[in-house]
Amino acid sequence: MHVVIVGAGPTGFVLSLVLARAGIEVTLLDKESSIDLRPRAAHLAPAGIRVLKRAGILDDVRRAGFTPDNFTWRKRGGEPIVSYKDIGQKENPEHWTVLPLNLLGPIMLSHAEKNSNISVKFGHRVISTGQDGTAAWAVIQANDGTEKKVVADFLVGCDGGTSQVRKSIFGPRNFPGKTWDVQLVATNIRYPFEKYGYDDMNTIVHPDDAHVAARITKDGLWRVSYNEDTKLTHEEVVKNCPVKFERMLPGNPKPGEYTLVDINPYKQHQRCVEKMRVGRICVAADAAHLCNPWGGLGLTGGFADIAGLAECLEGIHSGQADHSILDKWDEVRRDIYQSYINPISTANFIRVAQLDLDRALEDPFFSMVLKSNTDPEVKKKLDESVYAVCHDFTQYYKAKA
Ligand SMILES: Cc1cc2nc3c(=O)[nH]c(=O)nc-3n(C[C@H](O)[C@H](O)[C@H](O)COP(=O)(O)OP(=O)(O)OC[C@H]3O[C@@H](n4cnc5c(N)ncnc54)[C@H](O)[C@@H]3O)c2cc1C
Repeated sequence: MHVVIVGAGPTGFVLSLVLARAGIEVTLLDKESSIDLRPRAAHLAPAGIRVLKRAGILDDVRRAGFTPDNFTWRKRGGEPIVSYKDIGQKENPEHWTVLPLNLLGPIMLSHAEKNSNISVKFGHRVISTGQDGTAAWAVIQANDGTEKKVVADFLVGCDGGTSQVRKSIFGPRNFPGKTWDVQLVATNIRYPFEKYGYDDMNTIVHPDDAHVAARITKDGLWRVSYNEDTKLTHEEVVKNCPVKFERMLPGNPKPGEYTLVDINPYKQHQRCVEKMRVGRICVAADAAHLCNPWGGLGLTGGFADIAGLAECLEGIHSGQADHSILDKWDEVRRDIYQSYINPISTANFIRVAQLDLDRALEDPFFSMVLKSNTDPEVKKKLDESVYAVCHDFTQYYKAKA
């Protein structure tokens, strides 16, 4: 079997590695000349860790990253509201790992380059896709402007929120859902948050200055992400950043008291396609569904998508499943988005800006987090809830039926 995967982002790479390890030939195409190094996902939850292990890269990921300690929600200025102790689940073999995508990318690339079943092609922009009863294909435009067709048994779009694969199936504007009227500004900075008693993960709840402050590397780089008016241009966002930092961060630092390493604004959406499988073409992860990043469910859900898709394609390849298993994948994955990822990420988004701070612990989620500090059963339930995005598709194999 040969699979074309569009998009050498985290999900495209990991799907390639898992399929290649099952003996499936993969061509991985990306429009850029190298890996995307912008500040985005950094927190890899247990559901994602599970598929990184199947991809054969977990040991390297663990070496490069670290396991976070606590996640504390705070008031502006730093006063704690409630703490999720040991969110990293140090005792769980699938414990969390913090590793930003710009450090994860080179690990994935070096493993892919060593696997003879994978052919990675940067500088290959997919401009359309097609299929018939026996094959699926991508029409690609190389950097020199030439066009060619790559034909395979299946094609998977892991090409992110602006997916060309999705557009080629459903049209340029058909991505049901909504866009929030605030943009998220993601920054990487060096600043001594530890001095102010911050844990590895912190969310500051505030109507105007809600933000995340999380350590993302072993050597003390921090991610600070905050909401900003959508009307501001990129230049205005950069110009306003020192004003926001001085008002929001503990110690009210002025420029020169921190180092701004990177800054990038993102639109925030809640969107999901009507179908994740059409014949021999599938769309997965951000190409298929988007959620705001408050709570880090984007890549977690994407990794769960491709873990399931790999099981389906491996089942077809080995003769243990027929093509109808892909309809099951489509049905289950969209249901998990609609029943879990979309409502939870929406609740996270609303909580950080709209919570009544005088009655914060009446919030059902905060009340559960507080109970988990003293009740091991509640802590266990909370820890296990991060697996809600997973689904085992081998249960639909013919041999098991
Ligand atoms: C600030 C921020 C913080 C986040 N933090 C977290 C977090 O902590 N945990 C978490 O789970 N999620 C987080 N997310 C979400 C996470 O970053 C995304 O869900 C994830 O990157 C999606 O991965 P992907 O592989 O689907 O797509 P992408 O990472 O977007 O990769 C898509 C790839 O496709 C390529 N491509 C696009 N179009 C074409 C084309 N036409 N032809 C060929 N190639 C193409 C692109 O070049 C790119 O390499 C965060 C997001 C943001 C913005």
